[in-house]
Amino acid sequence: MSRVMPRFDTLAAAKYDSTPTGQKRHRTNLEEVYGENLFGLHEMKSRLPTAQYEALLSTIENGTELDGSVADSVAAAMKEWALEKGATHYTHWFQPLTGSTAEKHDSFLKPTGDGRAITEFRGKELVQGEPDASSFPSGGLRQTFEARGYTAWDPTSPAFIMEGPGGAYLCIPTAFASWAGDALDKKTPLLRSMNAIDEQSRRALRLFGSPPKAVKPTCGAEQEFFLVDEEFFYRRPDLQTAGRTLFGTKPPKGQELDDHYFGSIPARVLEFMNEVEFELYRLGVPVTTRHNEVAPGQYEMAPIYEDANQAADHQQLVMSTLRRIARRYGLVVLLHEKPYQGVNGSGKHLNWSIGTEDQNLLEPGDTPHDNMQFLFFCSAVLKGVAAHQDLLRAAVAHAGNDHRLGANEAPPAIISAFVGDQLQDIFEQIEKAGEATSSKPSGLLGLGVKVLPNLPKHAGDRNRTSPFAFTGNKWEFRALGSSQSVSFPAMVLNTIVAEAIDDLCTKLEAALEKGTSFDDALRELLASEIHEFKHVVFNGDNYSDEWVEEAERRGLLNLGSTMDALPKIVDEKNMALFEKYGVLSHRELESRYEIYVERYFYAINIEGETAQHMAQTMILPAAARYLNELLTTAERADELGMRSDGVTKTAQALNRLIDQLTDKLSVLAKQNQELGGDDVVSKAEHMRQNIIPAMTDVRDVADRLERIVPDDLWPVPTYRDMLFVK
Ligand code: ADP
Ligand code: MG
Repeated sequence: MSRVMPRFDTLAAAKYDSTPTGQKRHRTNLEEVYGENLFGLHEMKSRLPTAQYEALLSTIENGTELDGSVADSVAAAMKEWALEKGATHYTHWFQPLTGSTAEKHDSFLKPTGDGRAITEFRGKELVQGEPDASSFPSGGLRQTFEARGYTAWDPTSPAFIMEGPGGAYLCIPTAFASWAGDALDKKTPLLRSMNAIDEQSRRALRLFGSPPKAVKPTCGAEQEFFLVDEEFFYRRPDLQTAGRTLFGTKPPKGQELDDHYFGSIPARVLEFMNEVEFELYRLGVPVTTRHNEVAPGQYEMAPIYEDANQAADHQQLVMSTLRRIARRYGLVVLLHEKPYQGVNGSGKHLNWSIGTEDQNLLEPGDTPHDNMQFLFFCSAVLKGVAAHQDLLRAAVAHAGNDHRLGANEAPPAIISAFVGDQLQDIFEQIEKAGEATSSKPSGLLGLGVKVLPNLPKHAGDRNRTSPFAFTGNKWEFRALGSSQSVSFPAMVLNTIVAEAIDDLCTKLEAALEKGTSFDDALRELLASEIHEFKHVVFNGDNYSDEWVEEAERRGLLNLGSTMDALPKIVDEKNMALFEKYGVLSHRELESRYEIYVERYFYAINIEGETAQHMAQTMILPAAARYLNELLTTAERADELGMRSDGVTKTAQALNRLIDQLTDKLSVLAKQNQELGGDDVVSKAEHMRQNIIPAMTDVRDVADRLERIVPDDLWPVPTYRDMLFVK
């Protein structure tokens, strides 16, 4: 620990003992462990009467309505199971528009009036709850006099047990709505969008003569995050309040090499990752971990994909489990998109496809040119993206992500789609000739192993720069921020593709009506559609300046800031889209717009005030102390008749920086005082136009001070400390 500054003498890294802790040491049978805290189908089947189980299964798999008596049986079975697991309480677990999850616990115990109590949990308690909704954002959907909201059981996402220091409790995934029936959460619109895409895809499958089975969107979200020692975290007010550093100079290049000096993969991180994985397995979240990412201190975790609704719930559990378990190792997880300026940020890749229980509709097969059904669905996705790039951009817009999108880091704020050489070639053939007659062979890997249908494999490197890439048998939406819920972006994808499929089906049906053969009708349709959407396809380097110009020529949007992107949510075109498919009403969309703008305002308002406070009470005093030290030294040198030009010069330079800091600080303080107009949009605009530049100016001077103030006087842990102490 020689690199650890004396000011950090209680570092968890220094104290860390790699002896396995917790449950893991005693439990190694993964098959037994997997899903043990999940009330999944297997558990339901073994505990429910056959008829009830079948009814429930049909609801889960085909979306049929659930009978009240089934809810009673499920509640009884759930209670029995939960009590066996040691649960004392249950909660309706839901996802308010804050982007995280909420819960209110109720005890299973019901007093009997004679000084005793029984445990009770009925169908009606399972099906519906009434949390006080007043503290959750509603964007004007709920009047304060009607603070009640209600939660409604989502039988398609299994209940699970959470274990905490205060005991275990049963979590029941639920939707959350206002008393008037407006969705106040992220789950409800996601479920509605899943209905829309199911309906339209079945219709398409019927046209292709395929068995019209239920179609579900599938999602797998890769999560990037940073880990930081908790001691550093608690010494940085910016990390605590804003989740990112508002000050700090980049460590010198080549510091990464120091990692080796400290030992390859830090034992503490490995141990932490294993325990996270273990806890997620117990909850039936199918994660597979990967340890390293581009930046030092950065890691990634990805699950095996599931249906969109479960994947969204499970993604929340991944984030909360990472946070919770980190504390056991003296670590804090940073989910912010840009914890450190000048260091690679964190994103979340949303892998998305659609499929029936036995077929991925975006699986091209070996010769995609004759897989017309694949080309149909693939074209539908591109058609949707071309029509609604604005919505996809808005779906990933929030303050944290502005540091990545369109800033100096990938992917750009311009939404385009990568399809790879092979698919590109097929599209070109169809567009020109009305049909494709060949598929470019897939690439061969070194040892002559055929790269299976993964189309864009051979374009490898380049496709990493695309915000939306076809990666073999799924689309990968790479513009999501690491801290964000996947629900809204997944909902947008489902809805825009549902609309595209709807439109394609309508055109096909009309051609068939006129007596055109199915094959001819389809080829003609695809040829004209490809012509319409091809401007959104881009296989080149998305980071290049040429692309920015080219995209502009193509008429693609380049919405650099959250404040440019969010208004698209309430664009007329988009309001009509969501209304048509019953996903979000105008009111519900307006409320979301308002809430997202408000969140942007709060995020930056907090940053602005924190930056002011830190600069005023930590950085300025540290600089002044150093100045005092220098002046005292110069004075003593003078007394002794020594020359002290170096000291004097340093003092002068320092003094100038202190002047600059106080100047910039007074601007920031003034801007923090003024909050913009009364409405939330003008407040948010004030943040964007005045607070962000004022903060940047203060930081600029503070970071220069960091480079000259003695390390032992610097009041907060440095990037070097935070990124390299494991
Ligand atoms: P990479 O880092 O190359 O993007 P990973 O293997 O880390 O690849 O992540 C790929 C993700 O895509 C995984 O979460 C995986 O489960 C998911 N995925 C694979 N097939 C599908 C599919 N049909 N639908 C949705 N997600 C999928
Ligand atoms: Mg990926």
